[in-house]
Amino acid sequence: MLWPMLPTAPVLHQATPATPLSLDSWHPDDLLEQLVLVGCRTQQARQALLQLAKGTWQTATPWPVLLATLGKTARKSVELLVIAPVELQVTDDRGSADATRKLLLRTHDGHLIETVVIPSTTGTRTTVCLSSQVGCGRRCTFCETGRSGLIRNLTAGEIVAQLRQAQRSWQRHSPELAPIRNVVFMGMGEPLDNLAEVATAVAVLTHDRGAGLSWRHVTVSTVGVAHKISAFFEQVQAHLAVSLHAPDDARRSEWMPINARCDLATLKSALLQHLPPGREVLVEYILFADRNSALADAELLCGWLAGLPVRVNLIPANPGPDPQLGAPPAEQVWQFQKYLLDRGIRAMVRHPHGRDIGGACGQLAGAHRREAVNRQGPDGVDEDAGANAPL
Ligand code: SAH
Repeated sequence: MLWPMLPTAPVLHQATPATPLSLDSWHPDDLLEQLVLVGCRTQQARQALLQLAKGTWQTATPWPVLLATLGKTARKSVELLVIAPVELQVTDDRGSADATRKLLLRTHDGHLIETVVIPSTTGTRTTVCLSSQVGCGRRCTFCETGRSGLIRNLTAGEIVAQLRQAQRSWQRHSPELAPIRNVVFMGMGEPLDNLAEVATAVAVLTHDRGAGLSWRHVTVSTVGVAHKISAFFEQVQAHLAVSLHAPDDARRSEWMPINARCDLATLKSALLQHLPPGREVLVEYILFADRNSALADAELLCGWLAGLPVRVNLIPANPGPDPQLGAPPAEQVWQFQKYLLDRGIRAMVRHPHGRDIGGACGQLAGAHRREAVNRQGPDGVDEDAGANAPL
């Protein structure tokens, strides 16, 4: 017997939601397909989504007003599937001496996450550092976020909402500096432990029916979850950065628990196997005084880097939970960099931004810090002192 041809179901990047999702929790391509399935014509749906993107990203039109500008069919379809973009409540928004801003944002269920806006020293490029989780389950010994453990994943809508809030704050406080056009996933959390939501968020950030940023301006930083690297490149169009931090397995395992299950050789072969042709990986290497910053360590690092298309960011350690892990003197940082440069490896030193407001790499610990502040009582509390105080 011949079976009638059935229309094939669209392949979705995420499961169809039983209840509507916030605008930024939808992969833009999925949303288009779903709008068509519930009765919109493709062109109508595409137009409606462009209107929603423009209204939410460029003109900041309130959601109900924006819905009212859509045609009747499009509006009905959108209302079936989509609710307003997530709003995160700003509980703190402070600037540092170097114009970096740190936002402390509260989710609908009361968790605190941190988002940092970092202008380049020339003021011509501005980067936002987004969080992908509340807390982090990876527990690197030098990182403040890891101390709280993982509390929960953020949704794509909550990840994207950080950029919306950051843009508002940036326009209000630093309109003379370049607008935010670069995104790094280097805030709280391990992005590859929340890959589906991070993938959707990156799609929203880089889609013309979303925030419209260039994917080349988006970098996702991972602790090095080797078995998820192929999925990352399949699902996410963005640069990958890998936190290496140690030139051998003994030291990496001491500082980064992931290394016990996924050692340096495994990480390198995953990168060699899955890095798309023509792309390079950004390798992050924190320099700790007397621990990993000797020239012999630079030599070991060069050995690991050999054969990989890389750029290297050297990060003088910021104060974190372990007082033993401090930054080396500047002279040693330059010597380490020079060693790499002399061997043809592009290595930059990442200067700390926003250290005075606890906004530098490894200092983010919003929920954790707030608990400490609450325990100490609301009066006269210096939050920055709270950030690094032993809890
Ligand atoms: N989980 C991801 C992204 C979050 S951390 C990752 O591990 O890559 C972003 C970057 O800040 C990482 O390279 C991380 O190792 C680094 N970092 C953490 N603690 C730091 C510290 N005390 N000083 C300098 N950099 C730190």
